Amino acid sequence: MTDFALRVIAWQKQHGRHDLPWQNTINPYVIWVSEIMLQQTQVTAVIGYFLRFMVRFPDIASLANATQEEVLQYWSGLGYYSRARNLHQAAQKITRDFSGIFPHQFSDILSLSGIGRSTAAAISTFAFNIPQPILDGNVKRVFARHFLIEGWTGTPKIEAQLWQIAELHMPTIDASPYTQGLMDLGATICTRTKPKCQVCPLLSSCGAYIHKRESKLPTPKPRKPIPLKQTTMLILRCGNEILLEKRPSNGIWGGLWSFPEIEAHEIATEIAYSKFGLNVEPEEPLENIEHAFTHFKLAITPQPLIVLYQPKRLVSNTIWLPIEDAIDAAIPAPVRGILNKLNMSQS
Ligand code: SF4
Repeated sequence: MTDFALRVIAWQKQHGRHDLPWQNTINPYVIWVSEIMLQQTQVTAVIGYFLRFMVRFPDIASLANATQEEVLQYWSGLGYYSRARNLHQAAQKITRDFSGIFPHQFSDILSLSGIGRSTAAAISTFAFNIPQPILDGNVKRVFARHFLIEGWTGTPKIEAQLWQIAELHMPTIDASPYTQGLMDLGATICTRTKPKCQVCPLLSSCGAYIHKRESKLPTPKPRKPIPLKQTTMLILRCGNEILLEKRPSNGIWGGLWSFPEIEAHEIATEIAYSKFGLNVEPEEPLENIEHAFTHFKLAITPQPLIVLYQPKRLVSNTIWLPIEDAIDAAIPAPVRGILNKLNMSQS
């Protein structure tokens, strides 16, 4: 075992995290759900969602048998909704192709939707004690600093270099505390800003610390200006009820309920009539909201429209819901923000 791995393991056993709700189990389903939720999301934000998800979907069968809409409802607010859709699809594949039992062959784990090499490795190591190296964002940071790797970690060349390091140091015994230790170090000590080098078990051999490069590594992604897109959301309200439209399953917020949207050149009252058959009176637009996605920002203008009467026939993929019920539906975070404001202004 390398000295690097020995120090990570010793530190994890004494100082690492041991009481997170998905630890102290070898249940691959529990580990899988937690790993997916933890992608791009902080532990503190995940815990509440994870606990609620586990109460409603305690095993593969309950997840596979649920509707996509209900799964999205339990994911609502956590973001990156393709994760929830993939989780649901993968649970159905496990039911269909693996008799409902989570597979332990690495290639089979990798064949499930939404599971990449690092996530498959974490499941393999934690649930089946079959050591496989991981390389998530936190671990990339620890490696790039400790082994003084210059260059953006997203380029294939640097990524290949980091995988080599990951493979080289992966121990065959104590694989779980080692893997957990790397995750814990990245999340709590070797943090993105202000790493706590003085209490780091890797201090004496850390290239970044020795060369005073810890604030410069990992090399940031070359900056491109983030495009700003605009949309207008139609807040069609009749009494205490609002109209929601189901979004197409591909694209942003796929499969979630949201307000109907119009293009900049379209007129809200005309679209309300031509698309939904609604006679409306416009109100003052609400304050604009800006929502950040990975590759762009979305500026949302919420346009309230009072509906004079609801039509007898409903356009497909739309639903009228009381505002307080809509808040609990499978909706994106900015839509929930708008509904909360509407709800408060009514009470
Ligand atoms: S010494 Fe500092 S920079 Fe190096 S691995 Fe530890 S926390 Fe990160």
